[in-house]
Amino acid sequence: MASAPPSPASVPMPSPSNTGPLLIPVSGVAASALVDTFAQARDHGGRPHDAIDIMAERGRAVLAAADGPVEKLFWSDAGGRTLYQRADGGRLLLYYAHLDGYAPGVREGISVRKGQQIATVGSTGNADPAAPHLHFAVHVVRPDDPWYAGRPVNPYPLLTRR
Ligand SMILES: [Zn+2]
Repeated sequence: MASAPPSPASVPMPSPSNTGPLLIPVSGVAASALVDTFAQARDHGGRPHDAIDIMAERGRAVLAAADGPVEKLFWSDAGGRTLYQRADGGRLLLYYAHLDGYAPGVREGISVRKGQQIATVGSTGNADPAAPHLHFAVHVVRPDDPWYAGRPVNPYPLLTRR
């Protein structure tokens, strides 16, 4: 027999080898403008935030942070209009929330390229209408895991190389 398969308990951290660092998924936002909001507790509920909030005006272009297929377009009370994208050979799920709208032609199953516009910034869901932003999360998954699975990792170092 060949060597034993890797233990399913050891889900690897996202590797920059395949996709390179993730692109900052809001047009015109520099790495120096990002704030690490991953560990911040929410005002309501006190749960970890598990994402980065990227402030921008309503309508600013939301860009795909990596190459990969759009897996799910979904509306939730918290996230509002959301988009889940599979990346890194299926091992990452990228979650974009509070979207104002989807870009023309974006639908489940299409592949998008890193840097392609997929949506616009908004404040749908539980975002403050006076402070539109992109809520962006990165979940480590196995390729056959569903779109709602995964373990959140901090997007900040993946976006800033720090
Ligand atoms: Zn958020």
